[in-house]
Amino acid sequence: MVKAGEMMNQAVKEFLKENVLPEDLLWKEPMEKHTTFRVGGEAEVLIQIRDEEQLQKLVSYFGKVSQEYFVLGKGSNLLVSDQGYQGAVLDMSRHFSQVRVEGNRIYAQAGASLPQVAVTAANHGLSGLEFAAGIPGTVGGAVVMNAGAYDGEMKQVVRCVTVLSHEGEVMELDNATMEFGYRTSIIKNRPFLVQEVMFELCPGDKDEIMKKGAEFNRRRKDKQPLEYPSAGSTFKRPEGYFAGKLIMDAGLRGYRIGGAQVSEKHCGFIINVGNATASDIQDLMDEVSEKVKEQFGVRLEPEVVRLGQF
Ligand SMILES: Cc1cc2nc3c(=O)[nH]c(=O)nc-3n(C[C@H](O)[C@H](O)[C@H](O)COP(=O)(O)OP(=O)(O)OC[C@H]3O[C@@H](n4cnc5c(N)ncnc54)[C@H](O)[C@@H]3O)c2cc1C
Repeated sequence: MVKAGEMMNQAVKEFLKENVLPEDLLWKEPMEKHTTFRVGGEAEVLIQIRDEEQLQKLVSYFGKVSQEYFVLGKGSNLLVSDQGYQGAVLDMSRHFSQVRVEGNRIYAQAGASLPQVAVTAANHGLSGLEFAAGIPGTVGGAVVMNAGAYDGEMKQVVRCVTVLSHEGEVMELDNATMEFGYRTSIIKNRPFLVQEVMFELCPGDKDEIMKKGAEFNRRRKDKQPLEYPSAGSTFKRPEGYFAGKLIMDAGLRGYRIGGAQVSEKHCGFIINVGNATASDIQDLMDEVSEKVKEQFGVRLEPEVVRLGQF
């Protein structure tokens, strides 16, 4: 890997121009366009991945020449530095998103939208993904994070994940090998890219499935500040506590630094109330953690992934 801050060399740029369609190569791309926080400086290049073959070719090449890269889903759990990112961003969410249904199984490419896969499941009378109806990420990002809500999580419905190693080797990992835990999986600690996910669901009543998903979304709308850019829950749930309640009890409801604010509606969310920078958000996260630690002795761990220099 090249060290953060090191420039992308000319040979890499030439390789990309030869192997990626011009419309899929976005140079100096503002990452604020690709994150739900709506903040983040420029990526040296953002590559919209077309298919598996291209992904494998790029990853193998980057490995060989030690070019740093980052895999991007919908950027819904991501804070990108104001200084941006000097490596290559592999954007899975634009084209790499095919979904097919075979009996009780759904096969989704990593960039498929999780809420859309939940709708596909419902349309086929398949139950199990209702919890995912309002999680605004990709299937790949959701597997990495073991995303979950309302007593559901990816661990319950993922049968098998096709991954690509940084050396370009394709492997199939079954549910147990994925080491799913609370907002984590093997991929948090091992350099694998998710290519495809196979879900195994249960037959159910289509109307009931739709109703359940819609009810979860209604509850979200009532409780969460969905009208503002955010990355969902900013911190993980500390064992035995709720992050939002600790933050509220620390007197931080509505607390603001620059354009970043602790949501008044749900203190577990940091929101961008207008022109926030990544450093506003990072500073607010640090201050919130510090105050909660001081008052309650509980360490809040960020759920949000950070990219670039902070
Ligand atoms: C309004 C709102 C509500 C939310 N509610 C929930 C919720 O209820 N439950 C929940 O768990 N989360 C929730 N989230 C957070 C977020 O949607 C999930 O964590 C989601 O799974 C992230 O997916 P993504 O595609 O956006 O990943 P990104 O944010 O793009 O990336 C997250 C991490 O996954 C990695 N990654 C992404 N795709 C791949 C891939 N194909 N291969 C390897 N690594 C990859 C990235 O490198 C990064 O490390 C919410 C967010 C918002 C904005």
